[in-house]
Amino acid sequence: MVQPYRHEPFTDFSVKENAKALEDALKQVEKELGQDYPLIIGGERIYTDDKIVSYNPAKKDEVVGSVSKADTELAEKALNVANETFEWWRKSRPEMRADILFRAAAIIRRRKHEFNAWIIKEGGKPWKEADADIAEGIDFLEYYGRQMLEINEGVKINSRTIEHNRFEYIPLGAGLVVSPWNFLFAIMCGTAVSPMVTGNTVLLKPASATPVIAYKLMEVLEEAGMPSGVINYIPGSGKEVGDYVVNHPKTRFISFTGSRDVGTGIFEKAGKVQEGQKWLKRTVIEMGGKDTIVVDNEADLELAAQSIVQSAFGFQGQKCSACSRAVIHKDVYDEVLERAVELTKDLSVGNTSDKNYYMGPVVDQGAYDKIMGYIETGKKEGKLVQGGDGDTSKGYFINPTIFADVDPKATIMQEEIFGPVVAFTKANDFSEAIDIANNTDYGLTGAVISNNRNHLEIAREDFHVGNLYFNRGCTAAIVGYHPFGGFNMSGTDSKAGGPDYLYNFLQGKTISETF
Ligand code: GLU
Repeated sequence: MVQPYRHEPFTDFSVKENAKALEDALKQVEKELGQDYPLIIGGERIYTDDKIVSYNPAKKDEVVGSVSKADTELAEKALNVANETFEWWRKSRPEMRADILFRAAAIIRRRKHEFNAWIIKEGGKPWKEADADIAEGIDFLEYYGRQMLEINEGVKINSRTIEHNRFEYIPLGAGLVVSPWNFLFAIMCGTAVSPMVTGNTVLLKPASATPVIAYKLMEVLEEAGMPSGVINYIPGSGKEVGDYVVNHPKTRFISFTGSRDVGTGIFEKAGKVQEGQKWLKRTVIEMGGKDTIVVDNEADLELAAQSIVQSAFGFQGQKCSACSRAVIHKDVYDEVLERAVELTKDLSVGNTSDKNYYMGPVVDQGAYDKIMGYIETGKKEGKLVQGGDGDTSKGYFINPTIFADVDPKATIMQEEIFGPVVAFTKANDFSEAIDIANNTDYGLTGAVISNNRNHLEIAREDFHVGNLYFNRGCTAAIVGYHPFGGFNMSGTDSKAGGPDYLYNFLQGKTISETF
């Protein structure tokens, strides 16, 4: 009997032994950096001449690893293998598939500090954020395993006296999973194993900035008993390999997490029925956010400032859930802003593989340039009250940045920055604050800090986001507790870590027999 699900506890690094365990793991992983990793297609290790090199964003010249790079020919091979494997995998026992996830969770839990160390190196994560990322990956394995067992129990439907009706869920086929670099372990793991545990087969194309940790997961899944060909590991260019598989008539579904541009492009391409294609492709597309914390005049202002700072600057603001807009009632605006600036001044920024800094680097030069560009725009659109500068001498570091008095329609209030930048704006009353909060193309997360029950009820109905939080920050959704996904241009609202998520990779079949 499987134990009831509960989320993986976080590690407290103020406990000396925990900090020491991670420091030791970092030293160990350092010795393992720079290795070559092959593709994995049908269990076969394939090395290519062309490589994707993964660097530590905190230390530009430190190579985390080099992975082989798939081309269209290898993608074709992987898709054929996945389609062949599907023919038997679709009939495999759900309990057997769930067990692979449970075993993988146990292996990763045992090696947690080592996995933390890998993603500190490859993703530039602060310790707490790395630990939360690995814990979330474990949660996805534990939660989706249990969800599959529950789905397997079946759904009750009715039968007339002359018949016997059954309703079952069956998998879709072979599909593509494109995972992001920000939750380089959790989202990569959750999006790869969810189609697999439901009986589908997968081509996993991890983000090019963070392919090594995905290889590590492949090894764990193999150790946990995943048969060859069920998940195939094919890092490669989005334009070449990604598009090829998205367009392919033999691709049954696509699960993508990443930018709005790429996501909408995939949605369009997947919508075109290709010659020889026998189905409409299923798409699960999770894109960006432009997330707001609203602060009411009747509110705990210390909580408000803390929530804004943590949600804006945790993992350098590189979360689609990050707070990049603070909409504050005019009566308390100055006080909340002042306190947020004070708290931000205390935040440390640095190479998190050396020390437990609050913030690490942003992912690469491209991200750095883009964020600094928005900071320049911000200087024209508002008042720079904190940060605004960066340093690329060793890694891609940007100081946490706050703009005050920004117009709700300004560029930095509308476009996703994906970096440590938050803009403050003043609202005349609560109703105006909610209007401002809703005035973007996105609808992912939002939070309201208020002690006014009526206002919270208004927000519950009118604040149009997939994840709405009261009296807390707008990041840090927990699998199985806060199903995660957004409205509008944030995506298909597939609700990762929620009770409906696995149905994205299933289709219902009714079997009715008359006698
Ligand atoms: N699930 C994460 C959170 O609640 C965000 C995921 C993302 O940034 O892609 O903070």
